[in-house]
Amino acid sequence: MPTVETVRGAVDVAELGPTLMHEHVFFVGTEYLQNYGSGWWDEEERVADAIERLRSVAARGVRTFVDPTVWGGGRYIPRIQRINEQVPELNIIAATGYYHYTDAPIQFSNRGPGLLFDETPDPLGREFVRDIAEGIADTGVRAAFLKCAVEHPDPAPGVERVCRAVAYAHRETGAPITVHTNAHRQTGRWVVDLLRAEHADLTKVVIGHSGDSGDLDYLTWLADSGALLGMDRFGIDVYRTTPERVETITALCERGYAERMVLSHDAMCWIDWFGEDFTGMRDQLMPNWHYEHIHNDVLPALREAGVSEKDIDTMLIDNPRRYFTR
Ligand SMILES: [Zn+2]
Repeated sequence: MPTVETVRGAVDVAELGPTLMHEHVFFVGTEYLQNYGSGWWDEEERVADAIERLRSVAARGVRTFVDPTVWGGGRYIPRIQRINEQVPELNIIAATGYYHYTDAPIQFSNRGPGLLFDETPDPLGREFVRDIAEGIADTGVRAAFLKCAVEHPDPAPGVERVCRAVAYAHRETGAPITVHTNAHRQTGRWVVDLLRAEHADLTKVVIGHSGDSGDLDYLTWLADSGALLGMDRFGIDVYRTTPERVETITALCERGYAERMVLSHDAMCWIDWFGEDFTGMRDQLMPNWHYEHIHNDVLPALREAGVSEKDIDTMLIDNPRRYFTR
């Protein structure tokens, strides 16, 4: 039986069950936290809050939580291990890659193809391979998928380099890919073209945040490439409301695209992008931006709109299983 690596070891892909394909436990810059976090970060309080929230979403029936937090988003696996130990009913899947909208890591600015220390393949991609094949640092946890971010339609050279390094690690290991894209700027088109040129298996690529768009021409163009559409920001109402997101998914299901969509919230217990009172801001401005919104509100709305139970299972169970089957 094919297995997938999780924070607590290998799991049979048939056991993944209902899966949220893009959530973060935390999105908190490690260097920022270490130097400027004393006013707003209490480690014990944040860990306890995460344990409570993950237990709660598991109690709603979610079995697997796919966390694309990588370098650039403050990935710190020991904290995730500590939390997952207290929520053994939930699989957490870790990622490798790099998250930045304009650059590659400065630590690699002198090493790599065509640079001062001319190395091929790109040592950045080799680090990603190591996270997948051997494990992340000395945690014993292996990453099971790759992540990069393409926010601008004409990406900077550093961003293109990261994407090519991700494609290299994908070819080497067979690990699938999730890309942060900007759906309004339709950056998924650039991603599909680049990954195709890099000989990636597009059926193992999630074009993240596609659900921020309602443009069916754009979405079907992406899906027809073989890629999966990340309908993964339920609860971020400031970008698109839940009824709008539900309407788009319903229209795509009617056209036979259930096999090309996955569902999630892109939520987190804490993110350091909104000042010191993140939870207060969330509760006031985006009260649905939490891990249970899909099970509480979105699935009933999809059923109401005529989406079949079979299509819901396809998006929530079958597509994630296929994505993680190597
Ligand atoms: Zn995200």
